[in-house]
Amino acid sequence: MSKSHLFYQSDTSRPVLAEARGIYMWDVDGRRYIDGSSGAMVSNIGHSNPNVLEAMRRQMEKSTFGYRLHFETEPGEHLAAKVASLTPEGMEKVFFVSGGSEAVESAIKLARQYAVTVGQRSRWKVISRAPSYHGSTLGALALTGYDPLTRPFEPMMQAMPKVPAPRAYLDGLDIDDPATGAHYAAMLEAKILEEGPESVLAFIHEPVGGASTGALVPPAGYMQAVREICDRHGVLLIHDEVMSGGGRTGLFLGADHWGVAPDIIAISKGFGAGYAPLGAMIAHDRLVDPVLKGGGFMHGHTYAGNPLACAAGLAVLEEIEAGAMMDNAARVGQRLKSRLGDLMQRYSFIGDVRGKGLLLAFEFVSDRRTMAPLPKALNAYHHFVEMAYAEGLIVYSRRTRNGLEGDHILVCPPMITTDEQVEEILEMLTRALDRFEAKVSP
Ligand code: PLP
Repeated sequence: MSKSHLFYQSDTSRPVLAEARGIYMWDVDGRRYIDGSSGAMVSNIGHSNPNVLEAMRRQMEKSTFGYRLHFETEPGEHLAAKVASLTPEGMEKVFFVSGGSEAVESAIKLARQYAVTVGQRSRWKVISRAPSYHGSTLGALALTGYDPLTRPFEPMMQAMPKVPAPRAYLDGLDIDDPATGAHYAAMLEAKILEEGPESVLAFIHEPVGGASTGALVPPAGYMQAVREICDRHGVLLIHDEVMSGGGRTGLFLGADHWGVAPDIIAISKGFGAGYAPLGAMIAHDRLVDPVLKGGGFMHGHTYAGNPLACAAGLAVLEEIEAGAMMDNAARVGQRLKSRLGDLMQRYSFIGDVRGKGLLLAFEFVSDRRTMAPLPKALNAYHHFVEMAYAEGLIVYSRRTRNGLEGDHILVCPPMITTDEQVEEILEMLTRALDRFEAKVSP
């Protein structure tokens, strides 16, 4: 192919994608890859699902766009009703968007407009965690606890308070001990008190962590304690389920594992599952009703809720249900996690394996006892991804620990992955880990 005029985040050049089916992808030279990260934890039901494609084709023949101020659409109405049936009671209001950052922006703007409407104008600070990732637009980036991404833009953003993410494995604490959950939740309460509760609008966090923490699972009691603290101080609770929502963890929402309901939810990624740019902000009636009655929600995006994206999203949810894909994610995820645990026994530089369902990660360390990271100069996360890619396995990685040091690898294949395919993924992973071992311990 002639010179490419495209650019994205780095100057690494990648092969051109020819086609994708199920968990497999092929480039234009016929080379096959396993999509071991579902793209960026997006393609939850696998590629080219014929029923989703057919639903989109049918919708395309009717209409592909109807502006929200002029028309509601049937796919939009049906999808919103379906989403409301899958979210905690009372969270009945669905605001469609086209991606995760838009969902997070919508969530914080609804929270703020609600506060203004009910006479709490002093509340504007949104506390978040570090590390965390909430999106690339300036509002969502201000909530993101990941220095390399935020630093250049600091003068352009309102700095927001941060609390540490509950990384019990790094702090040598027992994730199953409720005292651990209480310990991290207490840091949130201390931060609210330090900032002044009357100035704090909301707390946002990822119930099961995404790329920034590497599938971090909160310690026992944390989710419930956070809810109680927010209630005690009149702080709204926002769950960023952009990555953990949509079924990948084995339940529709990550927070469903703890039975905790927030005030606002942001979802995207697996919600459109790669078939259409789709996301949603789902809010409690209690917040939306006063805002709508008080002059309307002053926020929106032109493509939001377009019928083609909604038809795709509805078909995705129907496929998940018909194929019992959440159950499969839970079952196959358990198998994959336990096999990653076996790899941890074999390779001393794997320090932790974590996650829920098919949102799984392992972390590289130089010393498992101290959990010290591999030397930064090794650029381990980058090299490992390239080694796996050379084997035909796509995995996702990030430098963790607030972007300064440490590396983790996310292994998150689609929810349709079979037991045999888990073995295929493990064989490729093992070959890549063998090559990596030669690099870290020559
Ligand atoms: N929130 C979380 C937890 C994410 O993982 C992401 C993307 O990785 C976003 C928000 C932003 O989503 P998008 O890239 O679709 O804007």
